[in-house]
Amino acid sequence: MPSARWAESRIAALASFRLAALSLPTMSAIAANLAEINRRIETARKAALKPAPATHLIAVSKTHPAEAVREALLAGHRLFGESKVQEAQGKFPALKAEYPDLELHMIGGLQTNKAKEAVALFDAIHSLDRIKLAHALKAECDKQGKNPALFVQVNIGEEAQKSGVAPKQTLALVEESRSLGLNVQGLMCVPPVDQAPAPYFGLLKTLAEDAGLPLLSMGMSDDFDIAIRFGATHVRVGTAIFGARDYSQDQ
Ligand SMILES: *Cc1c(COP(=O)(O)O)cnc(C)c1O
Repeated sequence: MPSARWAESRIAALASFRLAALSLPTMSAIAANLAEINRRIETARKAALKPAPATHLIAVSKTHPAEAVREALLAGHRLFGESKVQEAQGKFPALKAEYPDLELHMIGGLQTNKAKEAVALFDAIHSLDRIKLAHALKAECDKQGKNPALFVQVNIGEEAQKSGVAPKQTLALVEESRSLGLNVQGLMCVPPVDQAPAPYFGLLKTLAEDAGLPLLSMGMSDDFDIAIRFGATHVRVGTAIFGARDYSQDQ
């Protein structure tokens, strides 16, 4: 006969199963999150002294499965960001075939030996941070007959562990990349995590003006409202749309 203890453990197992099921993002959760972020973007644009002519929401789907992207697509969203070429290759070719107006942006660090795959798959690349990569991208653009929009990534807080060109070297990299014939459209940054981001967004805006670049990729889940006040044209939001990321599968 089942003991009271057995029954108790069954009840506990069932309860934790139901909790796990409840914590999975449902279709309505992703759609509702997108609606909420879009609402906050409009609010921030209204509050901004000089908002950009348009602010685009890049839904950052890294670590999340294709089904999560599909739910965003069903909610009408079309612009996505990924950090790794290989992961994006696993998810997006099929979705792009199904949704021809899907736009995919590369937002993570790019190795020169991945330039070929990156140019083939992405509509824009936010991580141009060195002249060697500019040459590799140029060679692939010529081969593939493409010219994706590029953002030069600036290490705006001059942090040792972060990629990106130093603020002082930004104009030179923009000029060199342009003279190669690359389609440099903007600047991108990720401010230091432990500081107020506003001064860094302001600095990126100034650098972009100096370089004559119209696009500004800045602002994530925690600070996109502030970035918009400084003229962000592209905000990159992951967690606030798709939920927390699980890196436990990584080595
Ligand atoms: C992961 C990532 C984001 C999204 O971050 P959230 O805090 O989840 O919104 C934005 N930009 C870059 C470069 C990223 O790597």
